[in-house]
Amino acid sequence: MHSVNVEIEVDLPDGVTVRGYERHGAAHVFEIDFELPAKCLCSKCRHEAPTNLRLKNEFLPVRDLELFGQPTFWVYQPPLHQCPRCRQRTQIPTSFKRPRARYTYRFEEQVLALLVGLSVEEVARRLGVSAELVEGILEHRLQAERTIPRDAVITSIGMDELSLKKRHKLYVTVMSDLSDPEHPRVLAVVKGRDREAAERCLAMLSPQQREAVRSHRTDMSAVYPQVCSEQLPNSQLVLDRFHVAKHLGELVDRVRKKHAVSS
Ligand SMILES: [Zn+2]
Repeated sequence: MHSVNVEIEVDLPDGVTVRGYERHGAAHVFEIDFELPAKCLCSKCRHEAPTNLRLKNEFLPVRDLELFGQPTFWVYQPPLHQCPRCRQRTQIPTSFKRPRARYTYRFEEQVLALLVGLSVEEVARRLGVSAELVEGILEHRLQAERTIPRDAVITSIGMDELSLKKRHKLYVTVMSDLSDPEHPRVLAVVKGRDREAAERCLAMLSPQQREAVRSHRTDMSAVYPQVCSEQLPNSQLVLDRFHVAKHLGELVDRVRKKHAVSS
């Protein structure tokens, strides 16, 4: 294999710019810059002052999306604000990731989108990250208590159970928007995989939104199809390739295990 130089366009969140690029083995590393707030609040004395920038003496790598199937990282020197009154240094928050997270918001969204139809382990394998990281993102969404915008038109939903077994013995129900099959979006993550969990997911939609749903795709085994047909008056259960593939995958695994035991 050989390499050539090409010029490409990359999408960036508002306020983020690229200062440099370097290839590191199978990874792409972008050195980034981003807009800083004009004023900062001191974490110690609560005094607000114009941003007095100090850069941390280290580079922080943050996982971003993929490029040509290879992981992309952003690196930057974490910016600090030094308080003119008490000299305390406070980390300046970044707009493209959560505090302390080692990945961007859009990477989190990618992980959640892949979880529609794949297990935690499969997503981790596909993205080359640990299952713990994937579970951490799911757990964060579980606690985030997000609401679904009332004006969102959702014509197709998915409902799946996922097990978070690396960090906790925990099952969650994930409800997703499958209106655009190419771009599934996670709408809700709720603890449990029973009737109550399914009902709590659907209760996040308004009655008008539930009426607008035309189809639902769910895990085959659980109570989801039943709850969906009760709560979504105009919706039909549809078989889709994700769930069929998942089901077949489980069957193949079971056959394999059986075979391994008998041989
Ligand atoms: Zn201060």
